[in-house]
Amino acid sequence: MKKSLEEEWGELRETFNSGKTNEQSWRRSQLKGLLNLLKEKEEDIFEALEKDLGKHKVEAYRDEVGPLIKSVNYILENLKQWMSSKQAKLPLAAFPSKAELVPEPLGVVLVLSSWNFPFGLSLEPVIGAIAAGNAVVLKPSELSPASSAVLADLIPKYLDNKAIKVIEGGSSVGEQLLELKWDKILFTGSAKVGRIVMSAAVKHLTPVVLELGGKCPTIVDSFSSSRDKEIALNRILSAKFGACAGQACIGVDYIITEKKYAATLVELLKNTLLSMFGENPKETRNISRIINEKNFFRLKSLLDEQSVKDSIVQGGSFDEANLFVEPTILLDPPLDATIMTEEIFGPLLPIITVEKIEDSIQFIKSRPKPLAIYAFTKNEAFKKRLQSETTSGSIVFNDTIIQYAVDTLPFGGVGESGMGRYHGKFSFDTFSHEKVVARRSFLTDFWFRYPPWTEQKLQL
Ligand code: NAD
Repeated sequence: MKKSLEEEWGELRETFNSGKTNEQSWRRSQLKGLLNLLKEKEEDIFEALEKDLGKHKVEAYRDEVGPLIKSVNYILENLKQWMSSKQAKLPLAAFPSKAELVPEPLGVVLVLSSWNFPFGLSLEPVIGAIAAGNAVVLKPSELSPASSAVLADLIPKYLDNKAIKVIEGGSSVGEQLLELKWDKILFTGSAKVGRIVMSAAVKHLTPVVLELGGKCPTIVDSFSSSRDKEIALNRILSAKFGACAGQACIGVDYIITEKKYAATLVELLKNTLLSMFGENPKETRNISRIINEKNFFRLKSLLDEQSVKDSIVQGGSFDEANLFVEPTILLDPPLDATIMTEEIFGPLLPIITVEKIEDSIQFIKSRPKPLAIYAFTKNEAFKKRLQSETTSGSIVFNDTIIQYAVDTLPFGGVGESGMGRYHGKFSFDTFSHEKVVARRSFLTDFWFRYPPWTEQKLQL
């Protein structure tokens, strides 16, 4: 008989309370199990990603399987050191005494994940939760059902099902899970549901990490070197169209460039598109499909307004039968159109022009804080200003998305783009509590610490 959510949760708590997940040997065995799953079942993962998103297996390896394998290996290499306690300094007045910071697991944690990178965004937090010694429930997104099914099928075969569980379902299952008491929730998804998660967490005083989205601006300066230009265009377009067809939280949402450079940039973008995806991009299978009809029609409706339609300089066709959206470039669509006020999350690329590249700073500052800002420029003074005058989860000069794949960098947003961070050691810290352990001796003592309070004690 299928267990209720409360029973599953109860089993996890029991396992956690037994102290089993706190053992380094348990953490290592689970991480190695995950590594085996990723290596042995790579084809199942590719197949699920093809079914859910039409994701090419090279893209699937680059964006999901590869980074996950790298991440587990990195954690295995460093776990012993991360788990060790760190000596803390104490003032001379406390002599003789010692103190240390001891990382301990939080308990039973919940991971709610999204559909665009259904393996990466599910397993990366789970890896962190295991490394820190927690029991964990993962609820993948119902919008990527094939991937969700693979996770639900394989995780119990490779990992300890008494401590790591996959619960499948949509928003109502998510809501039921949020009723239960967790020691931490890591949520990846929309700001709208992020608010629901945070409100539910308040009831149990559960800390949350919210990995949200938003519009990531990409500033493009003019380049004199043709090699720099070529590299920049490859990096921008692969982040827009070659990473889940623009359905990526840290993908390029729109470009900002100088008015005088716009026509040249459009031509360069068209040429790069051609070299990446050919004359008929739909036939290449190099661009993922839109996740479902709802999102397909949402994207289509972004171009409904005549003034937006008029701004299309490349593409603009939609193939409903295959949920395919042609890579589309728009030049200066109205700033109050939905395409410029909401996250696009698809292969539509507006270019916004400004008089001077420096004007992009004010443009970005007047909008919600992005998850990432990208800037392609060699202008050092501008880089300095952009870095110090804007706020975002990350800022990357002359590349895109790499900050996600680097284990030594924290990943997370700020303001509307989220709170908290994870990846590598930051995941370990996110799912740990650093406990202060202080040890004193009876050798020395100060009588003036204790009542009764007398004027004499104030004079000391
Ligand atoms: P979503 O918020 O609709 O869903 C995310 C998860 O929450 C899913 O597992 C879903 O089943 C669950 N959920 C939905 N309603 C719920 C409810 N009422 N109670 C509990 N759980 C509920 O988001 P989405 O469509 O999966 O993803 C799109 C958004 O996610 C975009 O804004 C994107 O930018 C953002 N995103 C952010 C990151 C990141 O790492 N920062 C990564 C991917 C996507």
